Amino acid sequence: MNEEHDIHHVRERGYVEAPARIPAILKGIEPTGLFYRVPPRRYPEGVIRAVHDDALVDYLKRASMEVPEGRSVYPYVFPIRNQTRPPKDRAYAAGYFCIDTFTPMNRNAYRAAVRAVDCALTAAEALLSGQRFAYALVRPPGHHAERRAFGGFCYFCNAGAAAEHLSRHGRVAILDIDYHHGNGQQEIFAPRDDVLTVSIHGHPSFAYPFFTGFEEEEGEGDGRGFNLNITLPERIDAAKYTRALGIALDRIVAFAPAFLVVCLGFDTGKGDPTGTWPLRPEDFHANASRIGALGLPTVVVQEGGYRTATLGANARAFFTGLVGRGFHLS
Ligand SMILES: [Zn+2]
Repeated sequence: MNEEHDIHHVRERGYVEAPARIPAILKGIEPTGLFYRVPPRRYPEGVIRAVHDDALVDYLKRASMEVPEGRSVYPYVFPIRNQTRPPKDRAYAAGYFCIDTFTPMNRNAYRAAVRAVDCALTAAEALLSGQRFAYALVRPPGHHAERRAFGGFCYFCNAGAAAEHLSRHGRVAILDIDYHHGNGQQEIFAPRDDVLTVSIHGHPSFAYPFFTGFEEEEGEGDGRGFNLNITLPERIDAAKYTRALGIALDRIVAFAPAFLVVCLGFDTGKGDPTGTWPLRPEDFHANASRIGALGLPTVVVQEGGYRTATLGANARAFFTGLVGRGFHLS
């Protein structure tokens, strides 16, 4: 896990991506005995630059250092015109690199985001040394961070960095089961046919990130046919979600990857402040059982999920299902 996650704390009211999410998940999963903690290694910046443009990495690094302690800089002007000329002032330039107005730059965002990537890479390495499952319990999350842009509480694409690393050893499928579209890894791997990206999410007509996640986005060039977006309406029942998952898993089986990266969001859960779906612990358990039954070396990377009251129970249900254990713990 990212031990330094709590240096990144945006205190503005309503900022749901809060440090309390991590202890809530830990409280749910630690009693299972399924986990032992591995200290995250420190990786060179190259692992981030393998999936993000230098300009974005340099910007986040410098801008985060310039923001005074305890302050946040919010992107607020966006270059619909003249995207070739970023302004010099780094506060104005935030909108050049960000996709929305609610993901701030602050003193520690860069450092915390780098450590989240370190965690995802450490988990990926665990698979390479023979582990069947590894979990990167991180914040900030990553699946909305594209090659050239941050946003959606995300700065660097943690799962993308893990997938890039694993792809040097075999084909990789990324399955995104957060409520929101995984635009980050979709954009990063769009031209590639050796990394399959699949995302099940709320239709962009009502769900963030609104401008991506449509079903006709299938990848580009050699990567055409290697991105699958499965969109669902605002109101669904658990059975409809399970059917969507079946379609996603069939595509992954057909791709025959050597590794699976799961972008795990609990914002599909009942009562999540950013979602509208009704999934309960028993649903997380059943869905995770099907993912585990693929039999693939699997790294799970934490993305969203903001209802701290149920994060623990949902996480416990998910991971016991993933490893094929029963739902009721003794
Ligand atoms: Zn989400």
